[in-house]
Amino acid sequence: MKHNFGAGPGILPNEVLKQAAEGVLNLNGIGLSVLEISHRSVEFEAVLDEAVRLVKELFNVPEGYSVLFLQGGASTQFAMVPYNLLPSDGKAAYVESGVWANKAIKEAKFFGDVQVLATGKENNFKSIPKDFEIPADAAYLHITSNNTIYGTQLHQFPQSPVPLICDMSSDIFSRKVNVADFGLIYAGAQKNMGPAGTTLVIVKDEILGKVDRKIPAMLNYQTQIEGGSMYNTPPVFAIYVSMLTLRWLKAKGGVEAIEKENDAKAAALYAEIDRNPLFKGVCVPEDRSKMNVCFLTENPEHEKPFLKLCEEKDIVGVKGHRSAGGFRASIYNALPITSVHVLIDAMQEFAEKNR
Ligand code: PMP
Repeated sequence: MKHNFGAGPGILPNEVLKQAAEGVLNLNGIGLSVLEISHRSVEFEAVLDEAVRLVKELFNVPEGYSVLFLQGGASTQFAMVPYNLLPSDGKAAYVESGVWANKAIKEAKFFGDVQVLATGKENNFKSIPKDFEIPADAAYLHITSNNTIYGTQLHQFPQSPVPLICDMSSDIFSRKVNVADFGLIYAGAQKNMGPAGTTLVIVKDEILGKVDRKIPAMLNYQTQIEGGSMYNTPPVFAIYVSMLTLRWLKAKGGVEAIEKENDAKAAALYAEIDRNPLFKGVCVPEDRSKMNVCFLTENPEHEKPFLKLCEEKDIVGVKGHRSAGGFRASIYNALPITSVHVLIDAMQEFAEKNR
């Protein structure tokens, strides 16, 4: 078994993969594959309905919100958000907490005035910018809850006088969130929710319909809501496997239970990084992510041999992002704590050998 610390597409529960494989051959014993039935069949409609229900249940989504499974990844949401929510004569507020936030900002500039309230750029995004005032006349405030590349995470969401829009691609369903505090949440599935190919959107209905530009059907939240995520053929397999993963999460005790596990995994790994003289953390401790743990070797020459030791121990996916370097251990929901201990043991063994 490999210990999969990859940043995304990330680890999925083994039992989900087995069920998904079964569904590809024969969905629920109907003698057909999930890949070869109509998306409007009773069987697939049941899959989509259950996926939506599970999102609502696991995240306590209040009345007045719609749950969508769309395509185009979180990157399409970078454009869809301003397309639908930023009037051409209005302005939107953004917090630049990393490269993904920066991409969202670039897309928003196509549609209206964009005010970047704060940026972590000067600090190489090692901390989350927090010192800013939210303009009350902005159409919305856009934030990123977890910065996958740098390993920072927002542990407290800002109180916003305007609709709060959040990219939760890399920490969705990893911790409790009060959905009522948000106007819109989006997340590419491929980290904590399922395979690549679908993007979850949870949107408060009343924030829609306030811009007067014409919006192409596929990029219009209203069309997608009216079509029940089936305006066109939806990404059936990605939705199916997401549904299975959400079922798995529910069976584990839901978000509250997984949050405890995630806290324990992160605490164990950061404790080792702080204790072990050969390694050091990258980010300011108060903003450390519980999903993507970034660290460096004190001695740059130790980087390659440590990576080699990881390989020998079947630890995969720990090399840092090409723009950040060092190491990044992604410890998403499906990664068991036993894998975290294998990594910790490897760090200890490495320190022993290189004393
Ligand atoms: N936002 C964040 C926080 C991400 O980590 C990523 C992908 N790594 C994206 C957006 C882009 O997602 P996608 O590839 O689904 O467009």
